[in-house]
Amino acid sequence: MKSILNKLKIKDAEKKAAVLLKYMDGILEKNGHVNLTAISDREEFIQKHFADSLSCIGAEEFKEADSIIDVGTGGGFPGIPLAVCFPEKEFFLVDSLAKRIHIIRELCVKLGIDNVTVVHGRAEDLGRQENLREDFDLCVSRAVARMSTLCEYCLPFVREGGSFIAYKGPDCKLEIDDSLCAIGILGGRLDRIERADSGSQGEYDHRLVFVKKIRPTPEEYPRRAGTPSKKPL
Ligand code: SAM
Repeated sequence: MKSILNKLKIKDAEKKAAVLLKYMDGILEKNGHVNLTAISDREEFIQKHFADSLSCIGAEEFKEADSIIDVGTGGGFPGIPLAVCFPEKEFFLVDSLAKRIHIIRELCVKLGIDNVTVVHGRAEDLGRQENLREDFDLCVSRAVARMSTLCEYCLPFVREGGSFIAYKGPDCKLEIDDSLCAIGILGGRLDRIERADSGSQGEYDHRLVFVKKIRPTPEEYPRRAGTPSKKPL
């Protein structure tokens, strides 16, 4: 873990690697009771959860962001590795499954990860709350929904001028093409798609999809909970 953080030029790599390894232990221990990850091998966990989560850190959108929301964080990915490595930024982690949220909150308290707020709720409901709507510089999300649905979950949280980064698989081209209309309706513009560099020598081939927020999201979005996935824009 430490060598990955060193390679990524992250300060205090030893200390941060130790926190992340303890976080992994906590997740693997709780995984018996609550389904948090399909991965039980520690090396695979480090690559697929930690290194992959950190693949956006070279982007200007990430460097410039002070407040970041992770929608559908599950076991805390990509939010927790980003928060541990960048304690000067504020993170807000959201998931619709209360049990997962409780475990992440417990682990954050135990490990002293104090730049993270963890909230239980559906993105469709939280995105309508005045204190959260268009309040974040950046939204990140991995493995939550198809792109058009995901944009309806994520773009309402992003302030005008901010960005959304979706972590996607290598075959996302068609999915992204299908979402262009939704992106426009929700106030976004597809900026670019980049190959994710997680430092794992191409073993895990992913894409980062960058969407810029260029206009406010119209008031009627997100639609009521369940509609964005049942009837994608
Ligand atoms: N992002 C994590 C990762 O990459 O390991 C978890 C991915 S998991 C496949 C999808 C997560 O999204 C689940 O924890 C699920 O509860 C959450 N989720 C799905 N729909 C959601 C919604 N509408 N609002 C909030 N969370 C949602």
